[in-house]
Amino acid sequence: MTEGEDPAVPDSKRRKFDRNLMETGHRLAHRVVEPVPFCWFCDRTAGTRSKEHIFPQWLLRHHDAMDERVHPTRISLPLGGAVVSERGERPLRAHVNGEVCADCNNGWMSALEAAAMPILTQEPRQGAIPSDDVGVITRWFAKTAVNLNVTQPFRLLVEAQSRHGLATGIPSGFAVHLFRSAKQNGVFDWVQKSPEMALCPQDQQGDILKIMELTLVTHIRIADLVGVVVYAPKPLRPEDVVLPDATRIYPPSGRRTTWETVPLLTDYLDGIAIVEMKDAGSAGACPPDEAST
Ligand SMILES: [Zn+2]
Repeated sequence: MTEGEDPAVPDSKRRKFDRNLMETGHRLAHRVVEPVPFCWFCDRTAGTRSKEHIFPQWLLRHHDAMDERVHPTRISLPLGGAVVSERGERPLRAHVNGEVCADCNNGWMSALEAAAMPILTQEPRQGAIPSDDVGVITRWFAKTAVNLNVTQPFRLLVEAQSRHGLATGIPSGFAVHLFRSAKQNGVFDWVQKSPEMALCPQDQQGDILKIMELTLVTHIRIADLVGVVVYAPKPLRPEDVVLPDATRIYPPSGRRTTWETVPLLTDYLDGIAIVEMKDAGSAGACPPDEAST
């Protein structure tokens, strides 16, 4: 359910981030509206909750980053006040999602971590990226982006069906792009934002701001590797969000991707995301003109 479609969720059941915005009189951007669940990744309503590490211990240990401190901070971007990480008070090992059930955490999430470990820690990274590895990397970055989206101060943008679908595969709606970052301040960084601009047919310009606000673009940096997770709401397809400066690994483009061809940019915040609506041949650019959160 997105904003305006389901007034049935009482304010007291909404995420703290939304409640704070409402209490301070902000205009709320479009978002997914649902009560805070028992587990963000499944339908269970009772049982045991556990703490899912947003950045897993094995990855922190590999990069000797157990004590790296990072703190989510809001910055002003044209659309929606993106939230980026900043060096701060909390060590990364204490960055957890406490609203995950033990079955998810000890089951499919644990298996996904085990599958991702050899891929994300291999050095040097070289040669073609096998399609099995693309599947694992995509699902791992998507899961991490959802963990950030539900726990960090940004509007909820991934619907329950797509969050839950990560337990068994890669739900439609997700895309993952890669690039490398020359600048590295600490080992981990992230930013949550929406696309910076759109190209759309004249008759769809009325809907484009809503579609852009509902599209999540999350950059996640691990050392030099940046995974950009796109989550696009219907009727948008994730392929309709174009990142000219990065390499899309999923959905597959048909071209073989090698680690050597993953582009090198200056900073993990680099690269813009453009929504390209179908039949945009005669379209004009539709930059957002109103910031909201
Ligand atoms: Zn669960």
